[in-house]
Amino acid sequence: MTKSFFVDTTLCTACRGCQVACKQWHDLPAEKTVNQGSFQNPPDLSYMTYKLVRMTEEVIDNRLHWLFFPDQCRHCIEAPCLETAFDDTAIYRDEATGAIIYTANTAKLDAEEIIGSCPYNIPRQGPDGTLYKCDMCNDRVHNGLKPACVTTCPTGAMNFGDRDEMLALARERLEKVQKKNPKAMLLDPDDVSVIYLTAQDPALYWDFAVAGTSRRSGGITRTAAIRRMMGPFARLMKV
Ligand code: SF4
Ligand code: SF4
Ligand code: SF4
Repeated sequence: MTKSFFVDTTLCTACRGCQVACKQWHDLPAEKTVNQGSFQNPPDLSYMTYKLVRMTEEVIDNRLHWLFFPDQCRHCIEAPCLETAFDDTAIYRDEATGAIIYTANTAKLDAEEIIGSCPYNIPRQGPDGTLYKCDMCNDRVHNGLKPACVTTCPTGAMNFGDRDEMLALARERLEKVQKKNPKAMLLDPDDVSVIYLTAQDPALYWDFAVAGTSRRSGGITRTAAIRRMMGPFARLMKV
């Protein structure tokens, strides 16, 4: 049984414990930032920030709302980045957990193409050309632990477990949250292993909260779609 996350943004207080725990587990440095008029810090994901709590302020029905979105790789079920790379020495799926893993060989890929293929705008390139993103804490998961961000979350916003269990939890919470917030929804639950619940229109949280149709062709890039159609011949012909 593959694994999934359920991220209940209605329980997130933006404490950023998950963001810090991710850096701690992966031994990633802090980033120098400047005040940009928002508590969101740093301003974006980067090759040294795999998890970012995005924060926006919105007036909805004459009330100010703080919307928090702990952003990370969705570990897509059919990952467009993997389909686009077409090189399992660089990007592969761990069949046991469902994690989409990037290796040092991503430095040999066309970074722009890979980044452009991601419907959630996740991968970032490091100075050495390697691409970086969340790895599902796959080393922890294989050793019976939960991802660092889940372990540290004090409110229950971050959850992790078998996919069936997470989908059931997500649907249960959606039913409850919809009673107070009719616009509440699960984001792309059939396509991803990181299932978010938002109380408001997801576009208010972050431009890439749900997969944008403009970037996709049936869920994958055009190049990836051609590669998939041609199957093993594509690799031989280097399509
Ligand atoms: S640790 Fe939990 S409550 Fe804190 S920012 Fe992350 S998801 Fe939100
Ligand atoms: S969210 Fe983006 S980087 Fe992560 S698996 Fe999906 S396509 Fe790849
Ligand atoms: S699963 Fe691990 S790598 Fe991914 S965001 Fe959480 S702590 Fe970071």
